[in-house]
Amino acid sequence: MMPTETYDYIVVGAGTAGCVLAARLSETPEVRVLLIEAGSAEPLDLMAVPAAWPALMGSNADWADRSVPQEGAGGMVIPLPRGRALGGSSSINAMTFLRGHRSSYDAWEKAGATGWTYDELLPYFKRSENLTGVPGRDPRYRGMEGPLRVAPAARPHPLSEAFLKAVRQADHPITEDFTSGLEEAFGWEDLTIVDGLRLDAATAYLRPVVDRPNLTLVTDALAHRLTFDGERCTGVEYGIGERRHSARATRETVLTAGALGSAQLLMLSGIGPEEHLREVGVEPRLNLAGVGSNLQDHPFTGVVYQSSRPVPPSMGNHGEVAGLIRTDPALDGPDVQLQMVDVPLREDTLPGPAMDQGYMLMVALMRPFSRGTVRLTDATPGNALVVDPRYYTDPRDVDALVHGLRTVREIGRTEALAEWRGEEALPGADVQDDEALRAYVRRNIRTYAHYSGTCRMGTDDGAVVDPQLRVRGVEGLRVADASVMPTIVSANTNATVFAIAERAADLLRAR
Ligand SMILES: Cc1cc2nc3c(=O)[nH]c(=O)nc-3n(C[C@H](O)[C@H](O)[C@H](O)COP(=O)(O)OP(=O)(O)OC[C@H]3O[C@@H](n4cnc5c(N)ncnc54)[C@H](O)[C@@H]3O)c2cc1C
Repeated sequence: MMPTETYDYIVVGAGTAGCVLAARLSETPEVRVLLIEAGSAEPLDLMAVPAAWPALMGSNADWADRSVPQEGAGGMVIPLPRGRALGGSSSINAMTFLRGHRSSYDAWEKAGATGWTYDELLPYFKRSENLTGVPGRDPRYRGMEGPLRVAPAARPHPLSEAFLKAVRQADHPITEDFTSGLEEAFGWEDLTIVDGLRLDAATAYLRPVVDRPNLTLVTDALAHRLTFDGERCTGVEYGIGERRHSARATRETVLTAGALGSAQLLMLSGIGPEEHLREVGVEPRLNLAGVGSNLQDHPFTGVVYQSSRPVPPSMGNHGEVAGLIRTDPALDGPDVQLQMVDVPLREDTLPGPAMDQGYMLMVALMRPFSRGTVRLTDATPGNALVVDPRYYTDPRDVDALVHGLRTVREIGRTEALAEWRGEEALPGADVQDDEALRAYVRRNIRTYAHYSGTCRMGTDDGAVVDPQLRVRGVEGLRVADASVMPTIVSANTNATVFAIAERAADLLRAR
């Protein structure tokens, strides 16, 4: 073991949230910050190229987890990509930048996350982003000075333009600013793409300040477990190759290892459901039953069309326009996202058009009722996790997607898409009744990889962190990433994680 190093703050995981926190906390010169990341400091060449993001799955920047067989999806094992790099998942993701609809955050408050409504989060959303010069962005709701430059597609794909016309023809509303979180409509997504290149959290927040003398970054470093003195978390043990290190935090340790990684670290440190910890050989320290439960994600399906002519290659992220709909008027907000995808995306084993011979009208579940778990296989840090998202175990999730499939079929048959439209390849024209469509949803499943909720914020016994993001029952320890969401938001999760981390920086500085 190397001699213990001492810092004011230790931030574990340099993904979306970790890059924000390390950059914000080290703005104060006398505060020493350590940032620990399992992935490499060197970006892969393909990370910069927006259209190449699918090729990053299975690379060394992907932890490449897999689900346990999913009973709601015919026993399939679902690949679960997850970033392992400076920038974390923001370095391999699909670059869509959307806030959830405001109803998502108002639901957090109802779930006990006091102070986390849309209006209260708005300053933090704005602090992270910079939309200077982007038309149609209202400075009351959108940031103009943050580190993260975002904008809609600069060279839109012709299918994206045709889709928005189709949406209009199918009588759906269109909004100029779909990212704001205020609209239940269709529009251009803002994207984390600048000058044709990906802008990840490391490039936006961390790399510009990485030379600060009070900021220490260690990469290729796997956090093994937290250390304690009584009820106080004192720091972290981590490994770089065979070498063991330990670091001490005089103020606080913050977990930003993502919804799977932060729950894993808590459990490896003896904080979690006592019975499970004993089963896998971890000595329980604190019985916090909620750790690793409440796992939520956005699974998707869609209608795949053969195109009547070759589809030109994307200069963007393959998904530039989207919309939110409510599948049941009784809901208090939208629950399904519809998107044009310029490739015929589908579950890997399903037959369908060649990559440049089709497109997909995607239907993604934004407010799942199903809840999953993440558990340890054993007490060894870095070992594969047991991830059971329990996709579609609540039948209401499947029904919402069936409603979405019917809606995109209406959009898909409009005049605006006639010049592109060939046969419906999936599910196929003969798949019409509810029963057949339900079966299709369970067969053609993929995931957005938006794992959330495993260390949920709240005040009840099942909550893992309080509304100040402090782990309940422990001093000097917070979680500040996608895991703290009480319920997953009705949008791709990255923008929300930026806001959570911006807010966490304020909470830490105010202590
Ligand atoms: C393939 C893919 C596509 C996506 N597409 C989009 C999209 O288009 N738009 C969108 O909004 N969202 C998207 N997301 C989701 C979004 O990127 C994530 O929600 C967000 O990045 C999560 O941020 P985080 O800080 O919680 O975790 P992450 O960004 O995942 O960061 C966690 C970091 O912690 C590190 N870590 C974990 N365990 C340890 C350990 N023990 N020791 C040291 N380091 C550790 C990891 O290596 C990682 O770098 C996508 C995600 C994926 C994987």
